[in-house]
Amino acid sequence: MKKRVKKQKSILQDQSCKQCYLCMLMEGDYREKLVEDHHIYFGKPNRQKSEINGFKVNLCPRHHRDGKEAVHNNRENDLILKKLCQQEYEKTHTREDFVRIIGKSYIGGGFKKP
Ligand SMILES: [Zn+2]
Ligand SMILES: [Zn+2]
Repeated sequence: MKKRVKKQKSILQDQSCKQCYLCMLMEGDYREKLVEDHHIYFGKPNRQKSEINGFKVNLCPRHHRDGKEAVHNNRENDLILKKLCQQEYEKTHTREDFVRIIGKSYIGGGFKKP
């Protein structure tokens, strides 16, 4: 039997529009372009959790993997996405819910596990 992961649409943007999330956010550039799927909380095991919960965005190669501004090379831009996504998630869930999935909070002074 094949293991199937239930996919959830991105909670941050309509990914059928090929716009780069960071181009829109940081440069006001809403044009469609070549984009790649980015899992906001990447690395094991969070990549799959990002997939299940819709913690994903489209990024152009420049904002994804190439160069200094790319989230995989730039801790600041990486954290911007991680915070924004958590904020969005917390509109409909609690911080405890978020921490239960991802293991930590990116907003505020951290969250103590009971
Ligand atoms: Zn971009
Ligand atoms: Zn990525």
